[in-house]
Amino acid sequence: MNELLPIEVARAQVLAAIPAALAPETVALADALGRVLSEDVSAATDLPPWDNSAMDGYAIRAADVAGATETSTAMLRVTGEVAAGGAAETAVLPGTAMRIATGAPMPPGADAVVAVEQTTPIATDGSAGLRGREATGPLPARIEVHEATQPVRNVRLRASDLQAGRRILSAGRAIGPAELAIIAAGGVANVTVHRRPRVAVLSTGDELRRAGSDLGSAGIPDSNGPALVALCTAAGADARHVGIAPDRLEPTLDLLRTALEEADLVIVSGGVSVGPYDVVRGAFAQVGTVDLWRAALQPGKPFAFGTAPRPGAPAGAPVLLFGLPGNPVSVFVTFEVFVRPALRRLAGRADDALLRPVDAAVLEEPVTKSIGRRTFLRVAALRDPFTGTPIRDAMGRVRVSLAGGQESHQLSALAAADALAVVPESVAGLPAGAGVDLWWLDRA
Ligand code: AMP
Ligand code: MG
Repeated sequence: MNELLPIEVARAQVLAAIPAALAPETVALADALGRVLSEDVSAATDLPPWDNSAMDGYAIRAADVAGATETSTAMLRVTGEVAAGGAAETAVLPGTAMRIATGAPMPPGADAVVAVEQTTPIATDGSAGLRGREATGPLPARIEVHEATQPVRNVRLRASDLQAGRRILSAGRAIGPAELAIIAAGGVANVTVHRRPRVAVLSTGDELRRAGSDLGSAGIPDSNGPALVALCTAAGADARHVGIAPDRLEPTLDLLRTALEEADLVIVSGGVSVGPYDVVRGAFAQVGTVDLWRAALQPGKPFAFGTAPRPGAPAGAPVLLFGLPGNPVSVFVTFEVFVRPALRRLAGRADDALLRPVDAAVLEEPVTKSIGRRTFLRVAALRDPFTGTPIRDAMGRVRVSLAGGQESHQLSALAAADALAVVPESVAGLPAGAGVDLWWLDRA
């Protein structure tokens, strides 16, 4: 047989079929989580929009309390109050103070805030209240201030966080919760992001039944369909399972044509080897072009990749066709190695953000594998029993052991795994204590 196709060569071929990210669209912030900006976002407002108080306390003029100490206090007359969301109607004049809430605008004339803890309220009749206890309730007539301060102390200055018209985030940035927060804080309601990749998932196999239905004498539940929809959704795509095709060309082609109508990327699992019932390659060839690969990875060697013109828009970017091997663990591994990077590129991620970040691990036990193929072992990290933190050795490597049986149909090991340990092509195995690359898997 011909040579195995190196993984990097295969992946480069996939990525070369995606000349650009999906077209931009403008969406409300509520729909932006997980998307990638296709344009810079600039602040529509200064933040804070005005100087405001960082404390519950009193807005004062710092010069009025110069020299104040615990025992030699300064006395100020209280002329009013500013709440968050309310603007001060009067200025703070020399010798006076206004009670102020955290986040309320600084009244004109005041240049500092003294925390309520550093004040004692004095009633109209001259009686002293409890130190630091008058942030709410009736306004005292006066306050004693127990410390000196400087201008701007406890004041958050206008535009100290964001400046109107200045860039907050650059194109290419993926939007997570912190990005969403800063965009909203900049007063921006809509963002221009790449469209989410649309994925159609198709299972093939005469033996497949929907999970939960009667298996008869020779059926097995379809797990790849739900798994691939979940993998795509977790990767930020809009994914739909279009159905289960039997191992015949015509019905497979029918479902494939349905899938092409709605998708940027089609993923078919099973039926991709070279057996008499493996019709996926033939179906791909009818709608577009296809290569059958023997990729140098384990599990997941037989793999079909192709492209098809988009129905209704033949001049546009082609639809990507992925034919994954049927074994459920092979599906996960080939998804990680080839499909996820493709989805991330479609979604607008930068070239250096297509692959999972690589961690370092050390094997707790010896492993064996096929020489010539890069093996992705399903492994579990040793964890601290109290905190759940992965345990690392003196070199900082995560200590990992096999999560269970490593055959490509054994989902139980995958479900027990935290990560994939990557063992290179050049070896037929590794001893305990050997270092490997580690790809953490998403865990709910
Ligand atoms: P195939 O690649 O079609 O030869 O399938 C390889 C193995 O994966 C066979 O044992 C199939 O029964 C199994 N398989 C294929 N598709 C699925 C699926 N959607 N869910 C679970 N197992 C599958
Ligand atoms: Mg099959």
